[in-house]
Amino acid sequence: MSTRETEVVVIGAGPGGYAAAFAAADRGMQVTLVDPSEKLGGVCLNRGCIPSKTLLHLARVITETKEVSEWGLKFGSPKIDLNAIRKWKDTVIAKNAAGVGQLAKARGVQIINAWARFKDSQTLLLSSTPGGTPDQGELRYGHAILAVGSRPAVIQSLNIKSPRVMDSTAALEIPEIPKTMLVIGGGYIGLELGTVYAALGCQVSVVEATDGLLPGADRDLVRVLEKRVRETFKDIYLKTKVVQLEDTGKSVRVTFDRTRVTDTDVEPPPEQEYDRVLIAVGRTPNSQGLGLDNTQVTVNAKGFVEIDKSCRTADPHIYAIGDVAGEPMLAHKAAHEARVAVEAIAGEAAVFDARAIPAVVFTDPELAWAGLTETQAAQQNIPVEVARFPWGASGRATAIGRNDGLTKVIVAPDTKRVLGVGICGVHAGEMISEGVLAIEMGAVAHDIALSIHPHPTLSETVGEGAELAYGSATHLYRPPR
Ligand code: NAD
Repeated sequence: MSTRETEVVVIGAGPGGYAAAFAAADRGMQVTLVDPSEKLGGVCLNRGCIPSKTLLHLARVITETKEVSEWGLKFGSPKIDLNAIRKWKDTVIAKNAAGVGQLAKARGVQIINAWARFKDSQTLLLSSTPGGTPDQGELRYGHAILAVGSRPAVIQSLNIKSPRVMDSTAALEIPEIPKTMLVIGGGYIGLELGTVYAALGCQVSVVEATDGLLPGADRDLVRVLEKRVRETFKDIYLKTKVVQLEDTGKSVRVTFDRTRVTDTDVEPPPEQEYDRVLIAVGRTPNSQGLGLDNTQVTVNAKGFVEIDKSCRTADPHIYAIGDVAGEPMLAHKAAHEARVAVEAIAGEAAVFDARAIPAVVFTDPELAWAGLTETQAAQQNIPVEVARFPWGASGRATAIGRNDGLTKVIVAPDTKRVLGVGICGVHAGEMISEGVLAIEMGAVAHDIALSIHPHPTLSETVGEGAELAYGSATHLYRPPR
């Protein structure tokens, strides 16, 4: 069996893994990146963030052409060419993956296309098939960075093999535009992909187990989103679970558990048939099948590899980053951890101490938050003041017909230090970075309010939200108390 050697091996070429490989190479380390796929970029680039945002952009264009018809600009109904759409999506993926490949090559990162599993703390076995014989030999290393990500969670009780029942990977392929689709899970993926399918003409319904969409986000922001998606989606069933899925040969028969539904909720029928079902109930870390038992790495009850603040596992030779190393399962968290792990391997006192990891849901409108949420403040008994700036008072929001937004700035009552920022509205995902910067820099609301925001932009809602933390803002009158 051939044995190769490397100073640092990164396992998994997603946005965490390739960022780690590049950071290590930039520090002059000899780096090998192992991933079974020739297309670098992992789930995010190939089956997640990038293809979904490509499709969400098309969805936005379809919706905008409908909206502008009220304002004197009429377009015909869109002619949807699914083959061309898939081709465009694949072109976007290929362009990005090629870019990552070129960056790896330029940095001299050695790439091995194989499945890796640990033989011991400093040796990997490399196979062409998952769990197969190590036909590609062994790789000895000084340090490993585990960045193997996550996969869609399955609901064991609904285990059904049917092309009509899709996970996010299958749904991104848009096998067809079904007449009706049920999305199980009102989280990030369910709402984003539901938005795409609805714009393409499908009647989308959503079923969510908890009592609200996007359980992690503040309710006032979710209300803004929910108001709109209640119009674009056919039905939204809250406090409801699916107990059975049956492929009838023509559709999927869905049985709902409605025991928690009350009179004030939209009640689903006991059973309903849908052309397709999308299951989006979270993601599971890929910590199995890696031979971790042959190392000192520990895994917690949820399947996440346990790490310290420097991304070190319990094995001194192995670091872990990204989805496999804990929540939030977000690409930008993984990329940030990548740099921490590499710095720690280089012997520096690096720790992951981000004050704010932004979260963005790319729905229409987008919903984004950073730092402390109002819900967390209440749960943790942290005193806060919240300044809310409704987009009805934004000139730019009016100009684009999108007054349905809300920006909120959460501050410490005594110092007015910015603890959190939340935005629901179009382009919220682009705007949240100002909040991240403010929180990271320990800014007080005055720092934002005194920074001149360009007019007319939606970013002014952040500036005026910060002004409101002191009682008044130009475009929002509050009578003196
Ligand atoms: P999620 O955790 O965001 O949402 C899953 C939802 O399913 C939750 O609201 C949960 O209450 C609900 N649920 C769970 N079991 C259910 C059941 N049996 N019936 C009905 N509802 C049920 O998970 P996701 O949407 O699958 O996304 C997975 C992860 O991927 C997220 O945690 C996120 O970090 C990441 N992601 C991020 C983005 C982004 O950054 N824009 C986009 C997609 C995915």
